[in-house]
Amino acid sequence: MFSERTIWKAIVVKSTLSMLGLQQIIGQESAIAALRSALKTAKLPGAYLLTGTAGTGRSFVATALAQAAMCLEPTSEPFDACGVCASCKLFLSGTHPDITHISAVGEKIQIWQLWDRDGKPPGILSRTLRYSPTVGAKRVYILHDVEKFTPSAANSILKVLEEPPSYVMFILLAMDSARTLPTITSRCTQIRLSTVSQSQLEEYLQGNLSLTASDAAIIAAYSEGRIGQAVQMANNPNVMREINEVLAFSLSAASAPLGAALKVAEQMRKLAGQMKATVQLDVPDAAEEGEGSTKERAARFQFTALFELLMLFYRDLLMLSATAGNCKIAHPAHRTEMISLSQRGGPFRWQACLEAILIAQRRLEANASISLITEVLSMSLLECPE
Ligand SMILES: [Zn+2]
Repeated sequence: MFSERTIWKAIVVKSTLSMLGLQQIIGQESAIAALRSALKTAKLPGAYLLTGTAGTGRSFVATALAQAAMCLEPTSEPFDACGVCASCKLFLSGTHPDITHISAVGEKIQIWQLWDRDGKPPGILSRTLRYSPTVGAKRVYILHDVEKFTPSAANSILKVLEEPPSYVMFILLAMDSARTLPTITSRCTQIRLSTVSQSQLEEYLQGNLSLTASDAAIIAAYSEGRIGQAVQMANNPNVMREINEVLAFSLSAASAPLGAALKVAEQMRKLAGQMKATVQLDVPDAAEEGEGSTKERAARFQFTALFELLMLFYRDLLMLSATAGNCKIAHPAHRTEMISLSQRGGPFRWQACLEAILIAQRRLEANASISLITEVLSMSLLECPE
């Protein structure tokens, strides 16, 4: 449902720096076990391809793997970065000279980013590949968005992926291997990342990022097990502010009379217009964007984020109504209020509301008028079909 995005990578990489090694990764047990076993035997592949949908934490795992591979005195049971050697210290300060991130400039990763032309910079591989690491045990290159390699850039790295110098490790990141050139995938050891369970994610957000139980619940629900997305949300205080504004709107709209529909539609448009932090998480890269002006597209992403949050709210009401209040919800801090609200309609009313939001989202994707979408949606949310 969410497309790849440019902004979160940098944030996740930054947030990872304050933490330590592979032990911080949750919910990827088989992937981490495979990485640890390769690290332990010192038969580390020269090139890894990490795949997983947006927000599953590919950058997160890649940086933890890089730290562990570069560490000078790794722990053995289980294998991990020590956190105190010269390499780990530089890594944690974000200034390690032996790790290089390569990502798209504009929409593509171009050959000139990798190799010098006529001896001129900035070809990063031309300038660094032949030198053994200065501090760490490995020189690591993290190549983000492998799908964005131009064909010539992709072809230019086949040889080094096949036979990298013994001190080099490449970590390539992609959404899925099907969208990556087979010549590249065949030269890499593939590790597939999955989403994690909501309860695992909640526990992680509370334990590692000090979120309250209620903030962790809503962020875990919104990010649907994608830890990279959850970490990014947790690190941005404006996200919770926006989520709470949508919640306040949802609570008042769910008990508003039908006559207030146009006013509610107007509030909905105003609210979507104010959503900035939550929307940044979902803005796809330029290459994947459709037609229309940037402003129009931005507005549609804002409505998508708003609709996602409305879905969580009405899902809570449906579940509370169907289970007589005996279920886990995404808004635990407002449980009492939501239980009494859920009793104002039966499960069919809340199910109809969810369907109305899904229809609104489809109309949004079909470029229907935003005024019309919000007015029809408000009437459906306010009207009681029973
Ligand atoms: Zn170390």
